[in-house]
Amino acid sequence: MADILLPAERINVAAEADLCVIGGSCTGVFAAVRAARLGAKVILLERQNRFGGVATLGLVGMWHTLYDTSGEQQIIAGLTFEMLERLEKQNAVSAFRKPVPHYGIRFNPEILTLELDRLVQEQTKIRVFLNTFFSTSVANPDGSIAAIIAENKSGRFAIRAKVFIDASGDGVLCKKAGVPMRRPQHPQPPTSCARFSAWKFPDGFDLHACMEKYRTELPDLPCGYYWGMDMPASTLFMLAGTRILNCDCDDADQITDAEMEARRQIRALLVMLKKELPELPIALETLPSAIGIREGLHIQSIAQLRGQDMLALSPCPDAIANGTYPVDIHNDQDNSISFKSLDGNQRLYKGSKLVSTTRWLPDHQSLPYYQIPLRCHIPTGASNLLAAGRMLDADRDAFGAVRVMVNLNQCGEAVGVAAFQCLQQNRSVQKIDYRETRSLLAKGGSIIL
Ligand SMILES: Cc1cc2nc3c(=O)[nH]c(=O)nc-3n(C[C@H](O)[C@H](O)[C@H](O)COP(=O)(O)OP(=O)(O)OC[C@H]3O[C@@H](n4cnc5c(N)ncnc54)[C@H](O)[C@@H]3O)c2cc1C
Repeated sequence: MADILLPAERINVAAEADLCVIGGSCTGVFAAVRAARLGAKVILLERQNRFGGVATLGLVGMWHTLYDTSGEQQIIAGLTFEMLERLEKQNAVSAFRKPVPHYGIRFNPEILTLELDRLVQEQTKIRVFLNTFFSTSVANPDGSIAAIIAENKSGRFAIRAKVFIDASGDGVLCKKAGVPMRRPQHPQPPTSCARFSAWKFPDGFDLHACMEKYRTELPDLPCGYYWGMDMPASTLFMLAGTRILNCDCDDADQITDAEMEARRQIRALLVMLKKELPELPIALETLPSAIGIREGLHIQSIAQLRGQDMLALSPCPDAIANGTYPVDIHNDQDNSISFKSLDGNQRLYKGSKLVSTTRWLPDHQSLPYYQIPLRCHIPTGASNLLAAGRMLDADRDAFGAVRVMVNLNQCGEAVGVAAFQCLQQNRSVQKIDYRETRSLLAKGGSIIL
């Protein structure tokens, strides 16, 4: 097929701000709110109809503990804690004011959607564009970003800003702006979650065994690894039970196939349950607005976060976030998953069945927490661009741990603060004063260790 040449086009600059944030998951929203609270005028752009990313659009209502592994020290606060307090007032969250096992803090994603709207609308300095798709960026002669081009119902338009944050998960702005991107050899596989009513099985019913029994008859059944949870302030059960193997989530055709394959898996599960338990009134209630992507491309930053340093708690002068979530790697080739926990144990599961436990730390040793630096959010060569979210520059082990939301929420906040510093001091992102980032974060309610 021959290419089509588009004529040059004059584009209207529809909005201007100090900072433009692409992507409205909690990562992007928290970045925007922290920068606005410090005084920046912010534009926040989201391609879907709501904020929250995987937590709302993907139905994943689970954050992890705010405490270190001893359970004695709270290590995460900031906007994560503020949001949990808001959810608590709506009875929409499980206990979070004390240590919880890594199986986490459950919340209601629909109430999170409402509270994220309120959080953003409280900030008069934030202008929001929903249902608006980032399409490309425009460079200044010195290579910095002059504007981004976006599209929505009103057409195509430009947004000018002094500093930009890519919080798109996929790194869409970084990619267009020419930041070198890395595709992992085995990216963690995507999953579509689903919500069901009457998800209550008779005593003794074994979902795994049932799936194996029907696997030949229903070849679309998921691979067998799953987890799920009762949703607070709701009678529904959320199941994260599909897995798309060998999927490049940066490829539009593969993602199209993955969306439909995941729904075939959910359909097969329903057919199986109706056959096996015909009396049970199980019903499918909600499908996600987008398949949940665990891993796509990573940026090349000024310093990659390496698992071996992070899990040795090596000195980290630019630490902006703390976490305890284990290195949790879903295999993209089969039904296995491995957890390297901070208690020193490494467990391998196949289809949710524990198959081995080994130690990665010497006996009786454990790690209280790990830290995430700012440097892995600073794209190499960029002057007015920062990145926060799952595209951060981390190797396989480090990414397996930092990829969860309580960690990325903190990274979003830090990048929002760092962007404000660049604006205030008219400085490149390469020259951010980390001590000041940490101090501003602490003053704004984050726990900085
Ligand atoms: C099935 C599944 C289960 C998980 N379970 C957990 C769990 O239990 N607990 C946990 O903490 N973590 C969990 N994770 C991991 C975690 O949810 C993700 O790593 C995290 O949400 C990634 O955050 P993000 O901000 O980088 O990206 P996302 O949440 O993907 O958000 C990116 C946002 O950018 C927007 N966007 C993208 N492109 C554009 C564009 N071109 N223009 C405008 N907007 C755009 C998207 O619409 C989206 O709102 C899970 C992930 C998956 C997929």
